[in-house]
Amino acid sequence: MVKAKTWILKKYFEGFPKESDFELRVVDLPEPKDGEVLVEALYLSVDPYLRLFNRDFIKEGDVQYGGQVAKVIQSKNKAFPVGCHVFVHSGWRTHTLSDGSDLTKLPSNWPKDIPLSLALGAIGMPGLTALYGLEEVLQIKAGETVLVSAAAGAVGAVVGQICKIKGCKVVGSAGSDAKVAYLKELGFDEAFNYKTVSSLEEALKAASPDGYDCYFENVAGPFFTAALSQMKKEGRIAVCGAISLYNDTTPQTCPFPHKTMLVNHLKMEGFTVSKWKHKDEESRQRLLTWMKEGKLKAKEVVTVGFENTPAAFLRMLRGNDIGKHIVKV
Ligand code: NDP
Repeated sequence: MVKAKTWILKKYFEGFPKESDFELRVVDLPEPKDGEVLVEALYLSVDPYLRLFNRDFIKEGDVQYGGQVAKVIQSKNKAFPVGCHVFVHSGWRTHTLSDGSDLTKLPSNWPKDIPLSLALGAIGMPGLTALYGLEEVLQIKAGETVLVSAAAGAVGAVVGQICKIKGCKVVGSAGSDAKVAYLKELGFDEAFNYKTVSSLEEALKAASPDGYDCYFENVAGPFFTAALSQMKKEGRIAVCGAISLYNDTTPQTCPFPHKTMLVNHLKMEGFTVSKWKHKDEESRQRLLTWMKEGKLKAKEVVTVGFENTPAAFLRMLRGNDIGKHIVKV
């Protein structure tokens, strides 16, 4: 018998989430039966989509959902021997019993000098989101100019680096001067602090006077309206996220985009990373290769201790740190 700690979603979020929306509970897990394995969480991921889909996937009283990197500690399933590392979307829990169907083995060639936690970041879901948004949705071409918002975040930082790998000019917006400096370090051609510029339109124009072929949208709100006005004719927009709206209790309003879209023949497409699940294995290898070659870099914000998982989630939503937020269990 193993005692598993779990974080329960006690109450659906109202506005900005609170630590009291969660409750820590300990449950007993039985020994694995034939075909089953017991995995122990090493790292948990805290992501904006946990806020976005708060009311969509679970009920109050359920374990908070989310992804984790875990290690197999007991096995009665030959496909997952003791000691192997897996990704599992089993939520905020220290231990998970599984029949293997929901486990994804981490690549067996994972280099020793690359932290396993990056399987939740640049070489995991956020990295794949960046890759698919650029290749499948925007279909970027060398020489094009790409704009990305929330550029210093888990997705945005990978977006910018892939743009450079593919020969594009990339402009990023982020919410602090330290983030802007980080974007320059990563090779972004232009970057600005959207919180301190006097005009978003002017900042976007200064960064790319000819406008933008592509916009990788992560934030929505007034930034979206400003970005729309700077798109080139036939420009493409990938709607990846809308983080400035997630904590709203009253929906924001904005000017309708129709006239700008029709006059400039713009194309806008929303997507979720899971659409290209069948490509994940190969795509993860490409991200891993870029990282080994030094073309892809990643920063992490690590909160230590399973007990601090809700605090890590709130910290991620506040947006003051640079990098992918994870919890080291
Ligand atoms: P980040 O690491 O970028 O963290 C969130 C960042 O968003 C913060 O650091 C902050 O950066 C910015 N932010 C927070 N609040 C606001 C606000 N009110 N207005 C503008 N910006 C804000 O998160 P991810 O990289 O994990 O996610 C980025 C986006 O991608 C999110 O919208 C997310 O929902 C989406 N996403 C979509 C997926 C899909 O399949 N479509 C998959 C994964 C993520 P700053 O200081 O720059 O404001």
